[in-house]
Amino acid sequence: MTRHLAVARLWYEANSFSPVIADRAAFERREWRTGKAALDAASGTNSELGALGDFKQARPDWEVTVLRCASASPAGPMDDDLFTEFYDEVIASIAARQWDAVYLSLHGAGVTTRRVRPELGLIAGVKSLIGETPLGISFDLHGNIAPEVVRYVAYASGYRSYPHVDMRETAARVLDRLATAAEGRLKPVGAVVKIGAMLTSFNMRTAEGPMADIEALARVLESGTVLDVSAFGGFPYADTPDAGGTAMAFADGDAEAAQRAARILAEDMFNRRAQFDVRLPTPAEGIAQALAGPPGLVCVTDPADNPYSGGFADTAGLFRALLQMRPAVPTVFAFFCDAPLVARAREAGVGAMIEVSLGGRLRPEFGAPVETRAIVLRFTDGRFVNSGPMETGLAVDLGRTVLLDIDGIQVIVTENCHPPNDPGFFTLHGIDLEQTRLLCAKVKNHFRAAFQPRAALIVDTDAPGPACLDLSQLPYRKVPQDLRLNR
Ligand SMILES: [Zn+2]
Repeated sequence: MTRHLAVARLWYEANSFSPVIADRAAFERREWRTGKAALDAASGTNSELGALGDFKQARPDWEVTVLRCASASPAGPMDDDLFTEFYDEVIASIAARQWDAVYLSLHGAGVTTRRVRPELGLIAGVKSLIGETPLGISFDLHGNIAPEVVRYVAYASGYRSYPHVDMRETAARVLDRLATAAEGRLKPVGAVVKIGAMLTSFNMRTAEGPMADIEALARVLESGTVLDVSAFGGFPYADTPDAGGTAMAFADGDAEAAQRAARILAEDMFNRRAQFDVRLPTPAEGIAQALAGPPGLVCVTDPADNPYSGGFADTAGLFRALLQMRPAVPTVFAFFCDAPLVARAREAGVGAMIEVSLGGRLRPEFGAPVETRAIVLRFTDGRFVNSGPMETGLAVDLGRTVLLDIDGIQVIVTENCHPPNDPGFFTLHGIDLEQTRLLCAKVKNHFRAAFQPRAALIVDTDAPGPACLDLSQLPYRKVPQDLRLNR
């Protein structure tokens, strides 16, 4: 007998403090597809939908139907009308027939221009239609997981790596257990425990530090009837009542065991919360540290304006420090997102000298622009394919881009906002990283997936921006006060 699996996806992380609304164009740039188009785009990629091919091969008796799949690069809140359209379409497709299981690929840290818990609404809406049919979900490690999720899902799991190199693996795990549950061979029951503190992700890499210990504990807790234990660091720039870290566990027919595992993990995460607090150098200190580092490529990051944390590549703190120091070594700055500047550079043409005002365009409270002059070096169409290991195979569209020379510093300016996490970002601009000494980039930990092996040293710094280190700077309205104090 053929069984039927429905798949839908909303992978979006929203920074409530970014002015850049994630609209239809933002989703169409990355992912707004259904059916074969969604599957084809994901085929061979290290992503959730990339796992569906393996699933179909392993379980030929299952027929997979891919409904609306949507994702955009993190920015500000999602346009609520677009969310409503997504929601209505998914609900109508689910209602249109009988399913044996439903799988949702979610991020977990979405907010819209009107809703602070859009994913919970989607989960509850889907579940109200499918009744006893099992629902499985995969989440990002930075999801702000609502405790109510556990009422609706048969099985859920989160990424176990940051940088996230296990999106496909996570989906494979959920799909396997979801199908096994639908076949009646597994009776998973879950528990979700909020840890009671907000964590920042500066020191959340899973290779070292507190999150490595937390992940190790989660693996130890997966024994006996306990099938799956997930630790969610959360995304503190989404202003939602579900903010803060979360522990989640699923056990086979054993609610008590799931509850116990989630509690133990939540307590461990809470006790380690101070280990997530870091002190970072200023941009000037960071650049000096990097230049004093070992030979080869040295990198300085600006996580407060990292697009994958909702930054919009428009703060000038790091660039101002760089320009003041003017290091006499081959230097690259990535990047500013400034469509009007790209247009102006294209009008001026290669070789032209133009007046530029960099950064500080959208939110002056994060610092004034840098006014200077630039020589136009090169244009690109902004398209490349990620070489990985993170998001391997993802087609990136930066819009039109321009490479500028400012006092000997090569500066990339783009129309679309996407973090320079992949070497392809630089190859596109004709930049040879082997010949580069100093790379200053608006990135955070995901950058390390590709650049840790390439760089002699990576120095994180803190400058004003929408994803800054000091959460007390941010005007929260929905996050409970006690949660903000528990740091
Ligand atoms: Zn994440």
